[in-house]
Amino acid sequence: MKRAIYPGSFDPVTFGHIDMIERSAKMVDELVVAILNNSAKNPLFSVKERVSMLDEITCHLPNVKITCFDGLLIDFARKIEATIIIRGLRAVTDFEYELQIAQTNRIINSQVDTIFLTTSLEYAYLSSTIVKEVASYGGDISHFVPEQLMERIYEKYVTIQNPMDVKN
Ligand code: ADP
Repeated sequence: MKRAIYPGSFDPVTFGHIDMIERSAKMVDELVVAILNNSAKNPLFSVKERVSMLDEITCHLPNVKITCFDGLLIDFARKIEATIIIRGLRAVTDFEYELQIAQTNRIINSQVDTIFLTTSLEYAYLSSTIVKEVASYGGDISHFVPEQLMERIYEKYVTIQNPMDVKN
């Protein structure tokens, strides 16, 4: 059984992530999409909200499971008996950091390999940060995320912006 982990923040999940999930799910028996539970990153969406969004948009993929983890990814890989970590590369700027992490992980556990998928060209520019930036100004995010998630993203900014409205 070939099990891989695709870890990330997915705050929120974008078409770039979905493309990665669909492509890597074809390569393995089971793909575990693992949301890093890292409150230091001050995420927009709770882990529970992110699990539910990912569950919805991957329901057509029977070998994809959604979960969350905290602590070291490489420890989590051992725990769920995954031998592959999937990461996406959008640009050279991603590479240096990803290479360092992948090499560190191999030193800690040589049974686990990292596989890099290059982004599909149409999503090379896309990140969760871009989605949040555009949504925070009420801009059109339909090119970045599935339609069924759009309202949930805009809603976050309505609740964030309200206290400011009162002050001004
Ligand atoms: P992290 O905080 O770990 O970078 P992200 O949620 O931003 O988490 O991304 C998770 C993974 O998805 C990373 O490997 C990242 O490189 C990849 N990724 C993000 N956006 C894209 C995209 N547009 N195309 C391909 N891969 C992407």
